[in-house]
Amino acid sequence: MVSRSAGVIVIGLGSFGSATAAELAGRGLDVVGLETFGPAHDQGSGHGGSRIIRQSYFEGADYVPLLRSAYAGWRRLEERTGAQLLTLCGGLYIGSETSPIFAGACAAAQRWELPHEVLDADGIRARFPVLAPADDAMAVWEENAGYLRPEAAIRAHLDLATERGAELHFGERVMDWRATHDGVEVITEQQNYAADRLVITAGAWAPVLLRDLGLPLIVQRQVMYWLQPEFTAASGYRDYTDWRLPVYIEESASRDHQIYGFPMIDGPDGGLKIGIHHGSIIRESTADDLDRTVSDAEIAAVTERAQQLLPAIGARPVRAKVCMYTMTPDEDFVVGRHPDHDRVIIACGFSGHGFKFVPVIGEVLADLVQHGATGHPVGMFDPCRMLSSSDRDRTGWPLQSR
Ligand SMILES: Cc1cc2nc3c(=O)[nH]c(=O)nc-3n(C[C@H](O)[C@H](O)[C@H](O)COP(=O)(O)OP(=O)(O)OC[C@H]3O[C@@H](n4cnc5c(N)ncnc54)[C@H](O)[C@@H]3O)c2cc1C
Repeated sequence: MVSRSAGVIVIGLGSFGSATAAELAGRGLDVVGLETFGPAHDQGSGHGGSRIIRQSYFEGADYVPLLRSAYAGWRRLEERTGAQLLTLCGGLYIGSETSPIFAGACAAAQRWELPHEVLDADGIRARFPVLAPADDAMAVWEENAGYLRPEAAIRAHLDLATERGAELHFGERVMDWRATHDGVEVITEQQNYAADRLVITAGAWAPVLLRDLGLPLIVQRQVMYWLQPEFTAASGYRDYTDWRLPVYIEESASRDHQIYGFPMIDGPDGGLKIGIHHGSIIRESTADDLDRTVSDAEIAAVTERAQQLLPAIGARPVRAKVCMYTMTPDEDFVVGRHPDHDRVIIACGFSGHGFKFVPVIGEVLADLVQHGATGHPVGMFDPCRMLSSSDRDRTGWPLQSR
């Protein structure tokens, strides 16, 4: 029996669901949000204290218009809520001259006339003496890059959603949903809901809630490490204020992984946050079977890798924490109408680079709920591109193509 009817239900109030609930409620819709865990929890993909934001997008120059909208969206959210979410500290994207990261960042910066500088290895060392890039390294330096505070951002969106009248339920896991002739039904551990429209922003649980669709999504276990620099006389550094660093991403010489990191944004005891994108250290998982313990062998391997770029990093990690990527085969996102159900909008598969886009994707999802179309250039995220069946109904696809 249905115990609550809503205009729109949002399943998953993490990074994208919190933004979508805030946007929909701001447009006057009757919104119910459902979330398994508590507000801004650490069990999904939106925790760990920081996320890189940047514009010279080596993953694809087509992302740049969305990034511009996302920057504006972050600043608007800061103004509306008073939260400090986006800090610009500059970004460095390092690789050999022909590497995808360097060549891709140059291409995006040139195509969209983004302010940037090209540095060689000596230029990198001169600007950031703590870094020891390979002699053939090249980098794009971008001043307009920095980091976001993910938990604070999710909280800000949740607060805004509530303030605007959304009804948010935490500790309420959705077990199933189905499309009906005039809407959707959603079944949680506690009760049944009906709604006119449904948005599914379930992160690493998308393969469970969208199992009928058979999207080729892979969940990856990702570890975030906080390592400690050595402030000894031998290291030449007195304290963490000497460790002036931007956000940075370096592609390995073998091109099988990237190492990325942040400045010391949490003070002298907070450590330097470092992560590895791709590579043999990464393991596949499912969201419910995730191994959340980090082994000494993993810490040793990452410390050794980090020391190649930052030789003065110590062997003692401050802490490590497990998170999840939800990968698509082409590493572009999945955002759009459910291919089989007009009233259901899905957003998942953010492939480890989605957070910076949260405000603009929140707008896109609200546009799709409200109007069935959006003016933002999201055609490249069409869910139908992931489906092998050629007989899927692609007519009426609401998104504008790029
Ligand atoms: C280690 C790491 C580093 C990253 N670095 C960057 C970066 O530097 N820059 C960047 O832009 N991006 C980065 N990302 C990617 C970015 O954080 C993710 O793309 C983004 O957080 C994904 O958001 P989401 O809303 O899909 O998932 P989540 O934020 O996990 O939200 C999904 C929510 O759905 C809820 N849920 C799931 N199933 C149900 C259910 N059945 N019922 C109710 N609720 C449910 C979950 O509990 C969760 O709260 C990184 C990701 C990781 C893991």
